[in-house]
Amino acid sequence: MHNKLVKFVQDTYQTKEFIPLHAPTFAGNEKEYVNNTIESTFVSSVGKYVDQFEQQIEAFTGTAKAIATVNGTAALHTALYMAGVKSGDLVITQALTFVATCNALYHMGAEPVFVDVSKISLGLCPKALECYLEDNAFINNDGFSQHNVTQQVFRAVVPMHTFGHPVELEELMAVCVKWNLKLVEDAAESLGSFYKGQHTGTFGSFSAVSFNGNKVITTGGGGMVLCKNYEEGMHTKHVTTTAKVPHPYEFFHDEAGFNYRLPNLNAALGCAQMEVLPKFIQQKRALAQQYNNFFADSEFTFITEPDYAKSNYWLNAIICPNSETRETFIKETNAQGVMTRPIWKLMHRLPMFQNAKRGALPISEWLESTLVNIPSSPVNNGQ
Ligand SMILES: *Cc1c(COP(=O)(O)O)cnc(C)c1O
Repeated sequence: MHNKLVKFVQDTYQTKEFIPLHAPTFAGNEKEYVNNTIESTFVSSVGKYVDQFEQQIEAFTGTAKAIATVNGTAALHTALYMAGVKSGDLVITQALTFVATCNALYHMGAEPVFVDVSKISLGLCPKALECYLEDNAFINNDGFSQHNVTQQVFRAVVPMHTFGHPVELEELMAVCVKWNLKLVEDAAESLGSFYKGQHTGTFGSFSAVSFNGNKVITTGGGGMVLCKNYEEGMHTKHVTTTAKVPHPYEFFHDEAGFNYRLPNLNAALGCAQMEVLPKFIQQKRALAQQYNNFFADSEFTFITEPDYAKSNYWLNAIICPNSETRETFIKETNAQGVMTRPIWKLMHRLPMFQNAKRGALPISEWLESTLVNIPSSPVNNGQ
C-alpha cells in the first residue's frame, strides 16, 4: 500500500520532489498587501489590515466579534481568561489533541482533565464527558460543579475539532448546560468547517483559531479569538492590547492585560489568504474525495467528515489495521519523500501532564497507535 500511495500522491501533486503534510500557498494578493504595510511603515500594532482581517473572519464565520492575536495559543489563552478560568480550576479537554490546548489552560493556573474522543468526530466525546462527570463531580449549592474528592471547580470544557472535523456540539453543549460549564472551542484547525451549517468556533462563549504556517490559511504566525457576545468581544480586544484605557497621552491600564495583538504585517497576509480560503477548501475537499476513493476496499480506513458536518479536511488521515503496519507505512513513505506523520502522543504521556486526572481512553489509545496523517495541501488543478 505504501508504494501505491507514494505514486498516487506524486501524481496528484505532479511532482517527484519532497511532498510535505501541509504547505502554505501564496498565489493571490499576499505580496501586494504585505508590501503596502512596508511602504506605509505601518507594520506593527497600528494599521488597517488588522481591522479588515477581523471583519473578514466575522463575515466568514458569523461570529459577533473576532479579535486577531499573535498566534493560536495566545488566542486560546485569551479565550480561557475571558471565560473566567481561574487558578486551581479543572478544565476538561480531550487526551488526543495538540499540546497547545493543554499549555494554554496550564498557564491560566488550571489543571487539565482528559476525557476520551468520539469515533465519529475524533474530538471530545459527549458520552465520555457525561460519564466522567457522573463519576467524579457533584453540583454545589451555588450551582457549580465540583470534584468529589478534591473539591476543585470544573470551570470549562475545551473540545478540539480534530483535523478540522467538527465535534458533536449539540450533545456537548447539553452536558455543559447540565453541569454549568463554559464551552471554549479549540477551533485552531477548523476554519472553514461547519456544524449543521453553522461555523465551528461560534458555539462556545469564546473560541480560538490558528493561522500558523501549516493551517488552512496562514499569517506566518497568528490567531483569532471568536467571541459569541459583542460586548465581551470588545473587552477581549482591550485585554489583548495591554488593557490600556484610551487617552491622548496618559498610560493607564485597568486590568492585567496581554500584549497579544497581531501585527499589521501579518494581518495583511491574512487578508489576502481570506480571499482564497473558499477555493482552498474546495480543493481540499476534492482531494479528500480522491483519497476516499483511493483507500476504498483497502485495509486502511480513510477518515471522513461526520454526517452532521461539512469539514475543511485540514489534515487527511487514515487508520492502519494495526501499529506494526503503521510503522512500516510511515517509514517507507517518508523515505520516498512523501511526508506522513503519526497522530500526537496522548497528553497524559507528556511529563507535565502525566498526573492529570482522566477517564478511560479506549478510542484515544486506539487512534494513537494506528492513525497516520497524509499530505493535505490544496491541490491546484488549474481551476
Ligand atoms: C495549531 C494548533 C494550536 C495552536 O496554534 P498556534 O498558532 O500554533 O499557536 C492550538 N491547538 C491546536 C489543536 C492546533 O492544531
